Amino acid sequence: MHFFVEVILPLSLPQTFTYRVSEAEFEFLKPGMRVAVSFGKTKFYTGLVMELHNVEPLLYEAKEIHQIIDDVPLVTEMQLKHWQWIASYYMCSIGEVYKSALPSALILESETLISPVKDSFVDKNELSDEEFLLIEALSQQSAIKISEAASIVNKRKVFPVIQQLLSKNIITLQEEMVEEYKPKLVRYIRLIPEFESSNKLEDLLQILKNAQKQKELLLSYFQLKASQKTPISVKQLTEYSGSSSAIVKALIDKEIFEEYYIQHDRVSFDDVDENKIVLSEDQYQAFQEIKNVLTEKDVCLLHGVTASGKTEVYIKLIEEFLQQEKKVLYLLPEIALTTQLVTRLTKYFGNKVAVFHSKYSNNERVEVWNQVLNKSDKAQVVIGARSALFLPFQDLGFVIIDEEHEATFKQVDPAPRYHARDAAIVLANFHGAKVLLGSATPSVETYFNTQKGKYGLVELHKRFGNAIMPEIHLVDLKDAYFRKKMTGHFSQSLIDAITEALSLGEQVILFQNRRGYSPVIECMTCGHVPQCTQCDVSLTYHKFKNQLRCHYCGFTIAKPTRCHACSSIDLTSKGFGTEQIELELNNLFPNKNIKRMDQDTTRGKYAFEKLIDSFKNREIDVLVGTQMLAKGLDFDNVSIVGILNADSMLYFPDFRAFERSYQMMTQVSGRAGRSDKKGKVIIQTYNPLHNTIQQVTNNDYQGMFKEQLYERYIYKYPPYYKLIKLTLKHKDFDKLKEGSMWLYQVLKQQFDIPVLGPEEPPVSKIRNEYIRTILIKIPQEYHLGNTKKTIQKILNSFDAISQYRSIKVVVNVDYY
Ligand code: ADP
Ligand code: ZN
Ligand code: ZN
Repeated sequence: MHFFVEVILPLSLPQTFTYRVSEAEFEFLKPGMRVAVSFGKTKFYTGLVMELHNVEPLLYEAKEIHQIIDDVPLVTEMQLKHWQWIASYYMCSIGEVYKSALPSALILESETLISPVKDSFVDKNELSDEEFLLIEALSQQSAIKISEAASIVNKRKVFPVIQQLLSKNIITLQEEMVEEYKPKLVRYIRLIPEFESSNKLEDLLQILKNAQKQKELLLSYFQLKASQKTPISVKQLTEYSGSSSAIVKALIDKEIFEEYYIQHDRVSFDDVDENKIVLSEDQYQAFQEIKNVLTEKDVCLLHGVTASGKTEVYIKLIEEFLQQEKKVLYLLPEIALTTQLVTRLTKYFGNKVAVFHSKYSNNERVEVWNQVLNKSDKAQVVIGARSALFLPFQDLGFVIIDEEHEATFKQVDPAPRYHARDAAIVLANFHGAKVLLGSATPSVETYFNTQKGKYGLVELHKRFGNAIMPEIHLVDLKDAYFRKKMTGHFSQSLIDAITEALSLGEQVILFQNRRGYSPVIECMTCGHVPQCTQCDVSLTYHKFKNQLRCHYCGFTIAKPTRCHACSSIDLTSKGFGTEQIELELNNLFPNKNIKRMDQDTTRGKYAFEKLIDSFKNREIDVLVGTQMLAKGLDFDNVSIVGILNADSMLYFPDFRAFERSYQMMTQVSGRAGRSDKKGKVIIQTYNPLHNTIQQVTNNDYQGMFKEQLYERYIYKYPPYYKLIKLTLKHKDFDKLKEGSMWLYQVLKQQFDIPVLGPEEPPVSKIRNEYIRTILIKIPQEYHLGNTKKTIQKILNSFDAISQYRSIKVVVNVDYY
């Protein structure tokens, strides 16, 4: 009798591999345990056991495993089943799923670099001999490869030794950089208790009779105090009184004022004790309806307008599932949003909440993984971005997918190119768990599913409390330019609205979608626009660094002083992005604090959180940004939202362009007037009569949905057709052209369904690789699984043709 295991390797190879084990190992091993194995001549990997069997492989000699790494399975059988579903649905290898599902610290490879943790205390007596040897080696070098470590300690033991050292926090994997972020503290001011009561005002004025400025500041303080219940920050006081912080300091020195610090989110929650959330009547009704729906259906959509308090409804539902001892997964489109939400949820559920996201260090991610695996009480509710759905859940009872319409739920690169919403629904189904999708602007696909009765639908039509929906005004740009009512890119109406809001101490959000409308440098003599040398795009002008930059590959050059084509010095910049808007704002409102939020200003870790925090703290008056602003952020002091140019979104070449524009504009608008103050939105456009713009203005989701659904039907797009996009890439233009034509023709012959292409995409070359795409549209009545199998067969035969083998083919199922 022979004993074998099927092992998944973290590679993009289509199959699993068979390794030989001893009878004792066979008895011990279970699916979901990791083993260290060799692969090829020199490499070794952490593999995952998928199956145990007695069938010797026919085509190769099975190698022995080096070592068993785990005592108990690290991955559940349910996960393995889910991985298989992902691999087959999204047409990728199970190795690719394995690689992206596990925190990288749990999948070591011979190439992985390890380095010592700085300043960590190592008790050498606590180390095993092998651990000691490795630490010695690492004290000489800053980093070594695991393959090098394997020549120091016994190769069979190297993985377990490294796992041990990792868990003792003595070494780390090199790629990680841990940085901690603490929300900033805000400086507040109050009277020292002795002077608190207002009849002391006379005394105080007496004390300050010779200090006019200090007296004025004090009076301002009393005025503010009378009009608001919330604490008064130093910033607010100095702004309100028009005096400086030196005067505040003088009053602190005289022991009239005292300063204290609080984290801003504490302030905003002072009056709402989350433990006592009382649902409004509408919210309560929605809550009951959702529970009802979920007794019959597995998935329900909560369609609630912005600021209707969907989060509060989620919280009440989570509570019910926790009472039944079930676990909850809460998915968000963007990690950046978690900070706000985690604060809200931990207030309510205390330390039952765990957070999992890719910005966490490896150790933290492994910790959450283990908590979930061991059903720890600390991970009863897991919040995370899309990768959190790969955690080893057991007793999963409820999955929330907030902002379900967000495109970032779809992973683009690398494989698996899964949609987290859809993959989570499948996961929930395996667990018998219920799913709640939430959005103010549901995707057409999801809403369609509610109309067919596949998903339930519950609606919230009103904002919470006294907040009302913002008023939306359109500015006709053609008319405004014609009447010369524009300053730079700002219409007079927008300037007036901003001026008024700022004078009242309110904040402003301005949205400029840079996509497809970036500033370029153009030669006025010959019309030449500098292009990236490696990609088929114009270079974008970045004024601050005085550079031209490619947004696809990062290529940069200094801004030319002469045209590269004709040497003319008559160069001008065209188009506009967030940076230019920021500059214009600085000129229009020189005394205000204006900040920009886009990919360039949020590159650093936590840069996004820092911006959000200081905006919440009201240290920023105007925030200019790209689509990052459209996420479900909750600010209570924003009264004006401006959309500088609605048209660039509308004319983006994609079948979802109108749907996306609707969602984007509605979501950005939704940031205005979320508390008692009424919000106003100003949309600047050349097409005020465009259907989509009208639908946004009238908050007409139904209109948008019906129109888009009709278009999708006529032009054969989702939800009526499933899309599979093939992207072919090669450095050789002719080879690519020929290869993509071959593939297209074979697909065309094989199927009597629409196959489009091979097309040159709008950006047809990136990093010196030419690109062609083929789009396959699969009608609903077709068997999806079989169609994919046929496509895979065709791709295999494509790969078998020697002259095409070097052409890369990326398969994207349900492309977004
Ligand atoms: P949505 O996610 O629907 O846009 P939020 O859940 O962010 O809305 O709620 C908007 C604001 O209203 C938040 O500041 C929230 O704290 C507040 N809010 C909503 N419902 C309640 C409630 N029942 N009690 C107290 N505050 C609430
Ligand atoms: Zn020129
Ligand atoms: Zn480039």
